[in-house]
Amino acid sequence: MKTLKILILPGDHVGPEIMAEALKVLDVVEASRPDIKFQRDTDIVGGCSIDKHGKPITEAVLEKAVASDAVLFGSIGGPEWAGADPTPESGLLQLRHRLDAFANLRPCEILIPSLVDASPIKPELVAGTKFIVVRENCGGAYFGEKHEETDKGSDLWIYERREVDRLARVSAAVARILHASAPKGEVGSKPVVWSADKANVLASGRLWRRATTDIFEREIPDVELRHQLADSMAMLMVKEPKRFNHSAVHTDNTFGDVLSDISGGIIGTLGLLPSASLAGVPGEGSCKGIYEPVHGSAPDISGKGLANPVAEILSLAMMLRYSFTLEKEAAAVEQAVVKVLDTKENGGLEIRTGDLGGKAKCSEVGDAVCEVLRGLL
Ligand code: ATP
Ligand code: MG
Repeated sequence: MKTLKILILPGDHVGPEIMAEALKVLDVVEASRPDIKFQRDTDIVGGCSIDKHGKPITEAVLEKAVASDAVLFGSIGGPEWAGADPTPESGLLQLRHRLDAFANLRPCEILIPSLVDASPIKPELVAGTKFIVVRENCGGAYFGEKHEETDKGSDLWIYERREVDRLARVSAAVARILHASAPKGEVGSKPVVWSADKANVLASGRLWRRATTDIFEREIPDVELRHQLADSMAMLMVKEPKRFNHSAVHTDNTFGDVLSDISGGIIGTLGLLPSASLAGVPGEGSCKGIYEPVHGSAPDISGKGLANPVAEILSLAMMLRYSFTLEKEAAAVEQAVVKVLDTKENGGLEIRTGDLGGKAKCSEVGDAVCEVLRGLL
């Protein structure tokens, strides 16, 4: 029996509501795998930790995270902690920092054809879009030395080769997984990584391009590498998102911040977007990660059972795939979500929460996903 340790941090507001549904899904996965035990430990983070301990995350929780194989995270913050110092959100930053979770993954995927309407992009251009932005999350301009004067400000934007190298290994692993699951007619013989930089104007950008090129030549001959300037990448993503289909977009902290928000904007529905922050390379030994929805704690709808649990459930699927290499189970969870949301697939039943124009409660969506999943596993 293999034991996989998961630290569960539901957080504030809708966090615990959507987490409850993801954990039901985890139960179904566990029941289908007598050889695997998910050992769960639950703790607090964010505003609720400020209320109880005076800080957004305690040393004990950070140590538990280090001792876990993965962290499943809900959402944190809310108006009651406005002006708190440190902020609830800084708890998550500390957690990412402690685990050295350097690779932030944000999938851009239209899950269900009928959800193209949520996208601001023309349906014929956006339908079928699927790629993943892999953003370097622990270095670059956001972490460089800062200098502030009244009329002057600067941030040092430094990258070292080893930081680019380790991200490149993740980007390649992600591209391989995407290539393997793509319809055969839609991909070439090799997985593809698009690297976005500003090698035309930034020295750190030239290092990025050199280091990326070198490591792909040296270590990753099975994956095709394409370079693109980050600004033109931003335009292409919006104009022609399918150009990046079934590939990983490999990019630094600053450009990745922007490109991953653009990728979320392309989809248009906050309640559906999962994310992962990985501290290792998927498929190579232990790959710890923090898995969480892209959306915030949605205080305006919390406590009413109205939240959409899909982003949290899809974050769980990412955990199964990247930290635990349970590809079959991850794909089944995603398929179950699609079947529940797709009124064509499920006989016209409207099992959607209010943000998607439906009337279903958070728990009804979770229950429906579990029911379909049982049939798939
Ligand atoms: P943060 O700064 O923490 O990201 P935010 O203010 O940007 O928070 P969210 O908390 O993500 O935003 O909420 C933005 C809007 O989207 C709110 O109206 C919220 O109710 C809605 N929303 C967010 N998540 C969900 C969800 N899971 N289900 C339904 N609606 C959601
Ligand atoms: Mg926000």
